[in-house]
Amino acid sequence: MARGFGPAPTPDITYTQCKRCGTELAGLDGRYSCGVCGWSNHWSEGHRPLPAAEDDPDAPPSPVNPLGEQ
Ligand SMILES: [Zn+2]
Repeated sequence: MARGFGPAPTPDITYTQCKRCGTELAGLDGRYSCGVCGWSNHWSEGHRPLPAAEDDPDAPPSPVNPLGEQ
């Protein structure tokens, strides 16, 4: 998948059953987290690569060391 600038693609809502307790789950792009038992699948099972930190336009600036020299 080509990486570019601009908004990230809208994730698709996908459904599965919890592998631990069987609850019907909705997730995004194949990534699930069960609110009943706490199960979640591995991030690599997602349908798309996860965005990197630099892809987040709202990312906070790097923390500044208050003891550092100005
Ligand atoms: Zn569960």
